[in-house]
Amino acid sequence: VTARWVVDATGPVQLLKRKLGLERQVEHTINAAWFRLGGGLDLEQWGAHDEGWMGRMEAPGIRYRSTNHLMGQGYWVWLIPLASGPISIGIVADPRFHKFDEIKELDSALEWLARHEPQLGATVAERRDQVEDFRKVEDFAYGSERVFSPDRWAMTGVSGVFLDPFYSPGSDFIGYGNTMITQLIERDLAGEDIGDSVEALNGIFLFQFDRALGAIYTNNYQFWGNAEVMVAKVLFDHIMYWSILCLPFYNDKTGQLEFAGKVLPHVQRMGMTRLAFQQLLRDWHDLGEREWSNAIVSNSAFPGVWDRLTDLHKSFTDEELEARYEANAEIVEAVAVVIFHRAAAQLPGRPLPGDARINPAKISLHPEKWEKDGLFDEHGLTLEDALARAPGVERALLDESALSS
Ligand SMILES: Cc1cc2nc3c(=O)[nH]c(=O)nc-3n(C[C@H](O)[C@H](O)[C@H](O)COP(=O)(O)OP(=O)(O)OC[C@H]3O[C@@H](n4cnc5c(N)ncnc54)[C@H](O)[C@@H]3O)c2cc1C
Repeated sequence: VTARWVVDATGPVQLLKRKLGLERQVEHTINAAWFRLGGGLDLEQWGAHDEGWMGRMEAPGIRYRSTNHLMGQGYWVWLIPLASGPISIGIVADPRFHKFDEIKELDSALEWLARHEPQLGATVAERRDQVEDFRKVEDFAYGSERVFSPDRWAMTGVSGVFLDPFYSPGSDFIGYGNTMITQLIERDLAGEDIGDSVEALNGIFLFQFDRALGAIYTNNYQFWGNAEVMVAKVLFDHIMYWSILCLPFYNDKTGQLEFAGKVLPHVQRMGMTRLAFQQLLRDWHDLGEREWSNAIVSNSAFPGVWDRLTDLHKSFTDEELEARYEANAEIVEAVAVVIFHRAAAQLPGRPLPGDARINPAKISLHPEKWEKDGLFDEHGLTLEDALARAPGVERALLDESALSS
């Protein structure tokens, strides 16, 4: 068979990558096991007698339609209702905390659930005859030395790279990859020389992959069960995701190099803050986990994050889009400074003055390095500035009144 282009979409088989010896190991290691439970599962039954909990939804009887995650140290469990009737239940675990042996067979996975998520474990044990199947996968984050080639081949989907199922980035990367590959093939078939563009898009795609893997997942599963840290992370990650990955995609700018160059300073600004922020989360977790009860946060009550989502339904001119990037960078920095103050308040001696002007790209929980790192900066944000830039942010973070005494 001959063809002008070959696009590999063989998924985990990774036909082309293996054939060409382009496999690239990544530092992140993750395992998963999952099964379907016939008849589905309505989580509401677990709290049907709790009026406060029931009152949080607009109406009873709709919770079962949502995907839910149960989180703990080193793992999360997905509960995904399927349109066909069953619910998909999956364990995703970092082997530093939960060995693959503990989840790789149905029996051991059910024992694991009984230990770590006893309410779910008991439900599944009672209905074991309704377990329809069982699947598993070991060490399934991986990279590739290259995904698009001037020799007219490309890899899309998980035949190329895979990060982690948390936040479902798999479909996103299929979207970016297919968009870029389509552009390249169309331009090649139109007779253009695409050599430089192939290299540039290959670099951008792999850069996005590496950045997402490093910032969001690698060496982070230790705080997956720390409610305070994780709520801050999910908020920040969503602002970043909607700001720099979804916004260009929805405006047909994915893979548009000229546009990417124009907004690069704003993207770099957000990227620098994210780098410092993700280390801050790890260090915050190391300060000790606090117990919370009966807490709820609402991201839709914080326009700083919600507007980033509703922006995706609007269309912008290039100038408006650039201005949006700048506004997004300001929100990202403000949120980082607010969360930094929360985390630093837990440092012994509370060394951070409330009126200090903070450089968001230099936040850390190492007071001994603050001066040297350039944390204090006359152009930086005070806490008051940050709260004014991100009004309502406290509604998207845990409220101290929910601290267990
Ligand atoms: C545990 C787990 C959970 C996940 N959760 C999510 C999630 O929630 N959201 C998300 O977006 N992504 C998730 N993913 C990733 C998800 O698998 C991918 O996003 C998506 O399925 C990848 O699509 P794909 O087409 O690249 O590969 P696949 O879905 O694997 O499809 C590849 C296809 O190629 C076929 N094939 C292979 N070799 C050949 C050949 N030689 N000739 C012809 N056909 C061939 C295979 O049979 C298969 O049908 C998850 C992955 C795992 C492992």
